[in-house]
Amino acid sequence: MESFWASAVSHLERAGRILGLGPEVMDLLREPMRVSVFRLPLRMDDGTHRVFVAYRVHHNDALGAFRDGTRIRPDLDLDECKALAMIMTVKHALAGIPAGGAKGGIAADTGKLSSWELERLVRAYVRRLAPKGSWADVPGADIGTDYRTQAWMLDEYEQITGHHEPAAVNDKPPLLGGSEGGAEATGRGVYYVALEAMREMGLAPAGCRVAVQGFGNVGSHAASLLHAEGCRIVAVGDVRGAVADPAGLDIPGLLDHTHKAGTVAGFGGAPPISGEGVLTSDCDVLVPAAVHGVIHGGNAAAIRARLVVEGANGPVTPEAEAVLLGRSAAVIPDVLANSGGVIVCHFERYQGLTDLYWDIETVRTKLKERIVGAYRQVVARSREKGITLREACWTLALEKVAKAAELRGWV
Ligand code: NAD
Repeated sequence: MESFWASAVSHLERAGRILGLGPEVMDLLREPMRVSVFRLPLRMDDGTHRVFVAYRVHHNDALGAFRDGTRIRPDLDLDECKALAMIMTVKHALAGIPAGGAKGGIAADTGKLSSWELERLVRAYVRRLAPKGSWADVPGADIGTDYRTQAWMLDEYEQITGHHEPAAVNDKPPLLGGSEGGAEATGRGVYYVALEAMREMGLAPAGCRVAVQGFGNVGSHAASLLHAEGCRIVAVGDVRGAVADPAGLDIPGLLDHTHKAGTVAGFGGAPPISGEGVLTSDCDVLVPAAVHGVIHGGNAAAIRARLVVEGANGPVTPEAEAVLLGRSAAVIPDVLANSGGVIVCHFERYQGLTDLYWDIETVRTKLKERIVGAYRQVVARSREKGITLREACWTLALEKVAKAAELRGWV
């Protein structure tokens, strides 16, 4: 299977060819502008010492300061951070956000660290980050990080600099200057985009059959909103199991169950199915919202959905996408479908810089306007140029980045 990094580069190369970008621009965009790999020594609670490997990748900041996520998971590596940072450059540019793409994190298993150990590790990460600050690099959350870690990051940054600067860290709790609606933003964006695409395909939400892989932050918010809209959520899976009901699962009940059991498995009387069964279930819309590479050359022919909305980053490989498009299914690319989080992070930074904070309805209205606007631009570009939605996303974004680099005299 093609690696996540190879997939990202292949999307970039394809967009570059469509736009006719010259070799000097492609040389600039193909690799990140800065890669930091650093080691974080940590004293564990039992007095022993361990060293953790950490990363921060800055892909391109032609459009503005670097921003975004911090991932903490055991097998995190540089290629994963590089792919995610490149995708962030594209997401920002596509959503009209004047920011550069960045990603980083720590190779560590949060489940095996005490809360004290995690706090010391996250604070050590912030101390080693360079550069940092609201006009240089603003780390946000990602897998393995949350309100708690982002509050520690902000506090450590403010202890170092000696002044308050809420715009220096994203995805923090509203009480510390975070945005209302931040936690739901990505799933809500997936929902807004899915509804637009369904409307265009003549799929009425009422009774529309939806399968969701991943019932964490993104999957659970998207599933709840689509369920409230009248969709039938026929299958849901997570890393530990999956459940299905052709008549539609009770999503509020499934949420309750998952909070208690830590997994969707074992919910009510719903028959268990395999994780793969979620992807290949008989549905109209599939939302892969777990991890990358789950729909690949080996299973693409078995996907029955007419519409695939990428909640996760990179869930459909280029090979699988060709199979899906070949049988006229629509694939709404990650850089558009899951950009609700980066859009609200942009609002969060803006609120932090101005010290004026919005209520949740304002955030939701502005998120909908921006993500639906981006969706319409992408569809229009795809039709006008006869290219796929993914090609439309990447070309719309890269032409802005290339132009900004040219204006700066970089190419
Ligand atoms: P999360 O950790 O909250 O939830 C992940 C879910 O996926 C869990 O239910 C987990 O059990 C499930 N899962 C993990 N591996 C799986 C597997 N192999 N098969 C089936 N299920 C599996 O994470 P999240 O924040 O919901 O993020 C999910 C995806 O969306 C990731 O790819 C992430 O990069 C992407 N994403 C998240 C955000 C955000 O704001 N949270 C923004 C953009 C993109």
